[in-house]
Amino acid sequence: LKLQTQFLSLPLQAKMSRPVQARRLEGTEKNIWVEFVKLAATHSTVNLGQGFPDFPPPDFLTEAFVRALSGENHMLHQYTRGFGHPPLVKILAQFFGKLLGRDLDPMTNVMVTVGAYQALFCCFQAFVDEGDEVIIIEPFFDCYEPMVKMAGGTPVFVPLRPKAPKDGKLMSSADWQLDPAELTSKFSKQTKAIVLNSPNNPLGKVFSRGELKLIADLCVKHDVLCISDEVYEWLVYDGKEHIRIASLQGMWDRTVTIGSAGKTFSATGWKVGWTVGPNRLLQHLRTIHQNSVYLCATVAQEAVAQGFQRELELYGKPESYFIQLPKELQQKRDWLVQSLDAVGMKPIVPEGTYFLVADISKFKSDVPDVPDSDEPYDSRFAKWMVKNKGLAAIPLSAFYCGAHKKNYNHFIRFCFAKEEATLKAANDILQKWKQEKTSP
Ligand code: PMP
Repeated sequence: LKLQTQFLSLPLQAKMSRPVQARRLEGTEKNIWVEFVKLAATHSTVNLGQGFPDFPPPDFLTEAFVRALSGENHMLHQYTRGFGHPPLVKILAQFFGKLLGRDLDPMTNVMVTVGAYQALFCCFQAFVDEGDEVIIIEPFFDCYEPMVKMAGGTPVFVPLRPKAPKDGKLMSSADWQLDPAELTSKFSKQTKAIVLNSPNNPLGKVFSRGELKLIADLCVKHDVLCISDEVYEWLVYDGKEHIRIASLQGMWDRTVTIGSAGKTFSATGWKVGWTVGPNRLLQHLRTIHQNSVYLCATVAQEAVAQGFQRELELYGKPESYFIQLPKELQQKRDWLVQSLDAVGMKPIVPEGTYFLVADISKFKSDVPDVPDSDEPYDSRFAKWMVKNKGLAAIPLSAFYCGAHKKNYNHFIRFCFAKEEATLKAANDILQKWKQEKTSP
């Protein structure tokens, strides 16, 4: 009874006073996407910001989903195997086995994740300890940095350095290169892993065999792991070849290759991703996976498995989606390149991905710089552009660490995986803007 009265005397809404945030979250609270996705939703008429197609996935994929959802096999509505739905891991093992030129065991060399995002998270959690360093090549998909920090590691950044193109040509993403001496200097006893992202978001750079060999040799020399984010593996243009670093000498044993059905089949909302690698590494990813999300949606995995089955049968043929999609995207890329070039927002022509980075220097008079502001110029510019012109893009500085943001603050990133009408609407905005600038 005494206890009961004590309990009743407590205020109904007793506020907690102790600090609740775990230390590992310190410094990782802010996220560029939360801010820019909201801005785009509120102000944009044309959204070339966040990376997703505004066209539908291929019919064969959505039909496979519908079949899985409403077909006779009602067990597809239930849990499946935690480390990957058997039909999906089997076809992924077959497909990537073919690409990597080795026999893969579906049960131990492949693991399915909730998008490539969770695959990355599993890697950092599984491999990075307090005091470990992880090399990240800038510009980088922004989540690598907080994920390394949350695992207790220290990110070590090395930028791709732009070289001016010759003969007044447009710059290409290939003009952004690693300085070999600078990269070498970042490897130390503390280095546990390097993150590679080819084709690279945001630049669209497709690393050449020579560049990959440089990275591979350093990994082997210093006994370092490679986390290879290859979500844009099929989106390469102008006959370029996407080379998988796991296929280079000495690399299979130390590489986890990450892929995404979201990018591969234009279905980013399905959140099906995967990791491929040696069991020696994947066994630790499985430990993280089984203690966090445990398994991914069965129906989506079944549909992706059927998508890969079709692609395996059509491999290298013109009807293959992996051939058709880049062909269509290359046209969209060329279209956006032309339209940006025409208004003086100099594009860096991407060799891959569905992103394009453009130089906004010539537009500085419209959005004057604020000296000593903490916010990088391109971020203020992108916010101004969406609010005043209705066109959403992402500042390039978001893809750099705090110390380097100011060195790369006059570029913005556009996504061109968009319907022709969307790209045309973007062009109309840019043309009108240019006219306003030139008319007295
Ligand atoms: N890696 C890179 C380089 C990306 O650009 C993205 C998505 N923007 C991801 C990983 C995450 O992919 P998913 O949607 O499959 O989680």
